Amino acid sequence: MSKFEKRQQAVSNGSHGLVIGSGIAGLLAARVLLNHFAFVTVVERDSLPGKLGARSGVPQTVHSHGLLKRGNNILEQLFPGLEAELVGAGAILTDQISDTLTLIQGDAFPRCASDLIVPSCSRSLLEWSIRSRLLKCDRLQFLDATQVKKLLTDETKSRITGVQLLDRDTLQLGELTADLVVDASGRQSHAPKWLEELSYPTPAETKVNAFLGYTTRWYDRPQHLDADWKTLLVMSKSPRESRSGVLAAMEGNRWVLSLYGFNRDYPPTDEEGFLEFARSLSNLALYKAVKDAKPVSPIYSFRNTENRLRHYEKLKLPEGFAVMGDAVFALNPFYGQGMTTAAIGAIELDRCLDRQFRSRTDLTGLSDRFQQQLAQSLQAAWMMATNRDRVWLSPVDATTTGKKLNWIDRLSKQYWQEVEALLKSSPESYRSLMEIRHMVKTPTAMFNLKFASNVAKQVWNRKIANYK
Ligand SMILES: Cc1cc2nc3c(=O)[nH]c(=O)nc-3n(C[C@H](O)[C@H](O)[C@H](O)COP(=O)(O)OP(=O)(O)OC[C@H]3O[C@@H](n4cnc5c(N)ncnc54)[C@H](O)[C@@H]3O)c2cc1C
Repeated sequence: MSKFEKRQQAVSNGSHGLVIGSGIAGLLAARVLLNHFAFVTVVERDSLPGKLGARSGVPQTVHSHGLLKRGNNILEQLFPGLEAELVGAGAILTDQISDTLTLIQGDAFPRCASDLIVPSCSRSLLEWSIRSRLLKCDRLQFLDATQVKKLLTDETKSRITGVQLLDRDTLQLGELTADLVVDASGRQSHAPKWLEELSYPTPAETKVNAFLGYTTRWYDRPQHLDADWKTLLVMSKSPRESRSGVLAAMEGNRWVLSLYGFNRDYPPTDEEGFLEFARSLSNLALYKAVKDAKPVSPIYSFRNTENRLRHYEKLKLPEGFAVMGDAVFALNPFYGQGMTTAAIGAIELDRCLDRQFRSRTDLTGLSDRFQQQLAQSLQAAWMMATNRDRVWLSPVDATTTGKKLNWIDRLSKQYWQEVEALLKSSPESYRSLMEIRHMVKTPTAMFNLKFASNVAKQVWNRKIANYK
């Protein structure tokens, strides 16, 4: 009996939720499906290592992955005690304001104790810790080295009834039925193609590309370090500078250094060029910290960083199908929102399923409701990433949007420049901005009376000074 037939037999005695992809979005989707279905299967293309480690299906794993406070809160809600477990495995609790030294040129952002405390650890450790929790549940099974090839439907094509699978070891095809299929297969998701094969329209896409390149290297963290920070961030002074970098303490007494270049100013991947890029940042502190540190990894690069939103919320989807994570909202990773938006998606899915099963026994209407709810709940994250990235769009940016920047774009570009200038002198504004960044406050807080009047005061004072 094939592994698919075995799983089919095991799930035939109750309701079954199936998740495509075991990245962070897939794992969190699986966790909430356990609240509503008798059995859950996670189908993963990669062979999943039985221990902590990188894998090819998630090439971003080797790059620094900061967790936002809101994401951490949701993880703790779904997996109580996870934060302590991560810390036990070496993750470093980091106050995002007091433990982080953020520099722009010669200026440091204000530092003070805050509630924005999150574990700093590698993406591998986080993914492995979540997967380990799920592995303990006997109602859930991972089918790894297995690729979803297409969606299966009922005769009328109105309902998804399961998936066709390829065993990547034996190259055998098989099928698995499910009441709900959740696509969490990331940026490379084939859901539009799968829908098209079933004669459904494909989602329209909105793209904003700041042409950001990532380059990352891991180091041994020096044991006797005379530093009052756990994370050191050197920011670019956009839009005049494209370069920035972050050095963060991780488990295993390591540092991870990621260098970023916007507007196609891609950081090099050769030894000398990489360090030279670090030296060229607006402040030398980061270069000085790593120049004599011992590298423990190659230099990794990643460039597919455009913001891409697939508008599933505008479609009429087949019943029994949902899409979440990067498969819907792929955001520029520079802002560190991806794992948190995946977590928000999981909570929305849980809520939608809760409501559904309170009023009905089947899933009719769930797909469209969920996609609409998801689009609404992630609007703020999309706005934060894309508004910031618009700074990099030229007045006529044919390569990304193909249209002229409108007055909103121009205004938000100017407002951002003012906000950046304000943060250095106003701890209160900086804390507010960090709370927005960590998604515990909505971006509208940036336009509230107090914040906006601080910005206006700054513009006014500058005008007066110039006049004199
Ligand atoms: C360079 C970089 C840095 C980042 N830094 C941060 C950060 O600091 N903070 C943060 O929160 N986020 C960060 N992110 C984003 C974050 O990695 C993702 O947003 C988040 O993990 C959610 O991804 P996902 O689970 O939707 O997709 P993925 O992590 O891409 O997972 C998709 C999974 O689906 C599997 N799969 C694909 N197709 C199939 C198929 N047909 N059948 C079966 N399985 C399939 C893949 O193998 C993979 O395991 C970063 C991303 C990048 C690229």
